[in-house]
Amino acid sequence: MNTALKPFLCLINGQFIKTSATIDVVNPATGKVITSVPDIGKDELDQAVTAAQNAFPAWSQRTIAERKELLNQLIEKIKNHSDELIELLTLELGRPLFFSSWEVKALTEQYGPQLLAQDYTDETSRDTSIGKVTKQYVPLGVVCAISAWNAPVMLSYLKAFAALVTGNTIVLKPSPFTPLAVLRIAELSKGIIPDGVLNVITGGDNLGPLMTSHTGFRKITFTGSTPTGKSIMKSAAATLSHLTLELGGNDAGIVLPDAEPEKIAEELFWRMFVLSGQGCITLKRLYVHESLYPSLTKLIAEYAAKVKMGDGFAEDSQLGPVQNILQYHRIQEIWKNIQASNAKVLFQGTAPNQGYFFPVTILDNPADDESFTQQEIFGPIRSIFSYKDIDEAVQRANNSPYGLGASVWGNDEATLQEVANRLNAGTVWINQHMEVAGDVAFGGIKDSGVGVEFGIEGLRAFCDIKIIAEKISTT
Ligand code: NAD
Repeated sequence: MNTALKPFLCLINGQFIKTSATIDVVNPATGKVITSVPDIGKDELDQAVTAAQNAFPAWSQRTIAERKELLNQLIEKIKNHSDELIELLTLELGRPLFFSSWEVKALTEQYGPQLLAQDYTDETSRDTSIGKVTKQYVPLGVVCAISAWNAPVMLSYLKAFAALVTGNTIVLKPSPFTPLAVLRIAELSKGIIPDGVLNVITGGDNLGPLMTSHTGFRKITFTGSTPTGKSIMKSAAATLSHLTLELGGNDAGIVLPDAEPEKIAEELFWRMFVLSGQGCITLKRLYVHESLYPSLTKLIAEYAAKVKMGDGFAEDSQLGPVQNILQYHRIQEIWKNIQASNAKVLFQGTAPNQGYFFPVTILDNPADDESFTQQEIFGPIRSIFSYKDIDEAVQRANNSPYGLGASVWGNDEATLQEVANRLNAGTVWINQHMEVAGDVAFGGIKDSGVGVEFGIEGLRAFCDIKIIAEKISTT
């Protein structure tokens, strides 16, 4: 690891801010504190909101093309600093360098450019019943963005890109567990994005609620857990903020009787365990037809046995630790519940005896009504279930308070489409899982969220609709 850690500061109104109070940042692969970041309080938050409000008129009056140009310059600069950002991400997440590299590339070469390449324009209809009507998409004002720790750079800056390209200004807060790469990108933005347009702040447990109850915001865009999303919705009632909530998931996948186990076993493993299972749209419940259950579970377990878990800086590591101590304790609690139940373990791997590592664990056809099959497990424990007929599988897959993603795997096109149509989720994949794009709307239904990010719909979610209705003279 070559990164010489210098102080990480917040960005408010183009100024780098430090505070006397700080929060520690821990490398979860070792459990050791690596540095600290500012713990922003109410006064600095007020300064950030005021800066964003003051920057709004000039930024919103630029053309979309001008804003895109500056954001593309920032993307180029991020790309030029990829190596450093990849190391920071692996340091704060413990995960393999390969996955950190994937995240930086996803932001700079895939989702970011896809998001920014989209265009939306005013729409005019001449012959409405109230005359000539022009529908304009106008920026809201100042956006509050709060993100989770599992993909900090992508979750934070895709929000920022969408808010900024549509003419809003922003105050962005990453998770206190993973602030480093996000703060470094804020530093890189200096000199490209005008002062006050992008403000990035870090803080402990008090800062999120202070932000979501602040009267200076017109929109809150949030990625995180369902309970936090619900409490944000409550605090947004006081300010009538627009809301986009990207929340938890317990994604189901259905393997149809005509699927070919040897073709899909490896991919299914990775869709379950990528990021050590810490992905909102990782596959969390896999329903396999009873005719394939023995062969497919055998193949998945055999593959799992070859996957190496370890410190992300070790070249042979393929999976990293649980990202933080709170989550690690949650996973251990879940494991205790599993052990106390009758659930059988199909496979359990090994993990380093340090930091917050927990081994890959696959449950063998547990009961549907156990707490550990119903709740979202944000860590490396997954369940595979056997089913008899497709109706039963669809019913069990849909029997969840969540509705983020789902998938169906097989060969017969008509059956794949039919099952996809019956699965209740924001995105249903066919013969794939977790595929997302900056130009395709993404969001959850039921307890998995409100509204969408990405796509034209995701951009318009940062706008008010303004109607100009002109009377048509009949003389
Ligand atoms: P979390 O809800 O604990 O925290 C998310 C963010 O909210 C953090 O920045 C945190 O500091 C802040 N926060 C916490 N309490 C707050 C409050 N009362 N008011 C305002 N802000 C508050 O979630 P997490 O543990 O960081 O992330 C894991 C969760 O995120 C999982 O449930 C996962 O499924 C979900 N997630 C969803 C998506 C998606 O797109 N749907 C993507 C990634 C992660």
